[in-house]
Amino acid sequence: MSEAFPCNSCGACCKSIRLSTQTEWLDRGDGVCRYFDDQQNTCTIYENRPEICNVRVMYEKHYQSQFNWSEFVLVNQKACDALLVQIKK
Ligand code: SF4
Repeated sequence: MSEAFPCNSCGACCKSIRLSTQTEWLDRGDGVCRYFDDQQNTCTIYENRPEICNVRVMYEKHYQSQFNWSEFVLVNQKACDALLVQIKK
């Protein structure tokens, strides 16, 4: 198994929940995930988070025929960077 996704726990994805039809159901009403802890800047259900929040599971179930793991990490890191810019606006 290759290495884990290098998440730096910025929380950008958890604070941009309205931007995807796959995650908008998690919206607590202000665009932030209902399971996000603002004080700790962490997921309160991390070990049981939805598949869409788990890069490794999404890769193995849906994307490994299109990308190798390193490529998929890069695609996701670009998305992370874009979300980070978005939430700082
Ligand atoms: S379930 Fe957890 S990891 Fe997924 S968006 Fe919500 S807070 Fe983030």
